[in-house]
Amino acid sequence: MTKDKHVIIIGSGLGGLTSGYILAKNGYRVTVLEQNAQLGGCLQTFTRDGVKFETGMHYIGSMDEGQILNRFFRYFNLLNAMQFSRLDTEGYDIISIAGQHFPFANGSENFVETLSRFFPKERANLQNYCNYLSKITDYSVFYSGKEQSQNNFLKEPAFVNSASEFISSVTSDPLLKNVLSGSLPLYAGVEDKTPLYIHALIHDFYNKSAFRIVGGSDIITESLVKSIRSMGGEVHARQKVVKINCDDKKAISVSVNEDNNEIAADYIISSLHPCRTLELLDTHLIRKSYRSRINSLENTISSFTIYIRFKDNAMPYQNYNLFCSSEKDVWKNAGNYSPEKFPVGLLYMHSCSEPNQKYAQSAILISYMDFDEVAKWQGSQIGRRGSEYEEFKQEKAEILLDLLEQYVSGTRSAIAKYYTSTPLTYFDYTGTEKGSMYGILTDCKNFLNTKVFSRTKIPNLLFTGQNTNIHGIIGVMIGAVLTAGELTNTQDIIRQIYEE
Ligand SMILES: Cc1cc2nc3c(=O)[nH]c(=O)nc-3n(C[C@H](O)[C@H](O)[C@H](O)COP(=O)(O)OP(=O)(O)OC[C@H]3O[C@@H](n4cnc5c(N)ncnc54)[C@H](O)[C@@H]3O)c2cc1C
Repeated sequence: MTKDKHVIIIGSGLGGLTSGYILAKNGYRVTVLEQNAQLGGCLQTFTRDGVKFETGMHYIGSMDEGQILNRFFRYFNLLNAMQFSRLDTEGYDIISIAGQHFPFANGSENFVETLSRFFPKERANLQNYCNYLSKITDYSVFYSGKEQSQNNFLKEPAFVNSASEFISSVTSDPLLKNVLSGSLPLYAGVEDKTPLYIHALIHDFYNKSAFRIVGGSDIITESLVKSIRSMGGEVHARQKVVKINCDDKKAISVSVNEDNNEIAADYIISSLHPCRTLELLDTHLIRKSYRSRINSLENTISSFTIYIRFKDNAMPYQNYNLFCSSEKDVWKNAGNYSPEKFPVGLLYMHSCSEPNQKYAQSAILISYMDFDEVAKWQGSQIGRRGSEYEEFKQEKAEILLDLLEQYVSGTRSAIAKYYTSTPLTYFDYTGTEKGSMYGILTDCKNFLNTKVFSRTKIPNLLFTGQNTNIHGIIGVMIGAVLTAGELTNTQDIIRQIYEE
């Protein structure tokens, strides 16, 4: 019945593909258009000298039977296509502060028990911390599978309070505050702005169980594309949408590539950053005030990344992620970043190329960086940005590798080669504003004005992807349900996810 309704989805990242999957499954005719030669957006990988590197999906959580991502992966038919490697349950994340390593262990009890060894007087506070975070996640129908009676969520403390305020209310111990905030790079949190619910959902997601994807996250792309095509949908690379065409009331088509090839649609879903989407629209249906609100929104900070290839059998595989901070207060890292401070900390993760591997083939090292530091090269061609840019990257990489060596000695001598990317790389490959890692920064003190919902001012144009709902694998998948639900029915999709 709905097969005659054509939905064009702009962008083939996780948001575009999962929205496309849900709609194809529910009878819509779906066409996904991707500007790049490689599909997947942040799920893209690249290979150098036979070693694969992931660009924007390094670890996932809640994958044990019955847990939220497991349910979503089953629904998206991803379970059979993939293998997962469990991170150390006694310390999937290690927070390194002032020369000490603090492990985050899986499960609330274990989490409290492990950190209580370092902070014996804080046991009750740690227990309260975990209990409260669990309460917040249970509040979400997606996490609990149960609809909650209250629906005035904007009054909930998790939405109006910041994560930093909450953590400060849990304990007065400054070191414990930093430890509990140690995995901030997972959401590039900003003091007094990032809402508590984002911290709660991400903590709970990884605390339940944490895994690496064996062989790389591009397997997710391949599998979703295959499924969409098998349900009659189309997915095309090298199709850059250059315009969304509207009549007096609604969107009617998109123009693609330099030849402006026009494709008609009943609905259009954009998974691009909202600023990029607005650039495609020249219509009175979008008011100036909406445009200026979206364009003035703050975005999460970007990053500088080193992709490390190790010599053969030189680096024992680390089954955990390492978060190191140079600042005394980790909340100052993203919010108060300035180029002179680089690097304010780092996130270091090995990749998993096969189950039970003994030695790492590759690793990724990420540190915050502002787009302004590379803005002068904007508009240059990828791979041909010039020697000054290459020198800039090398200088930053050497500083960052020196810092890593202080935390994990012996890394430098195990490196065969490394490659780097900057905020400009992310901007050019995904179109995210200023290379922002996780898109628009939600400010709990100004929640509604900093939030972008799926619906737009144009009735048949919707947003999906990390800028609606939350970033990350589960945030974007939930966002896809909410977006697709605008055309079908959100409760029906949730039922499908929980009953299948
Ligand atoms: C460094 C980094 C590490 C991360 N690590 C993790 C992690 O370990 N675990 C986790 O869960 N999450 C992680 N994330 C977050 C996660 O990758 C993202 O939230 C998610 O993949 C975003 O998906 P998306 O579809 O919203 O956007 P994107 O993946 O950015 O997709 C947008 C797509 O639109 C395409 N596009 C843009 N303009 C056009 C146009 N005009 N026409 C056609 N196509 C266009 C782009 O090329 C791109 O493919 C990480 C992110 C970063 C940056």
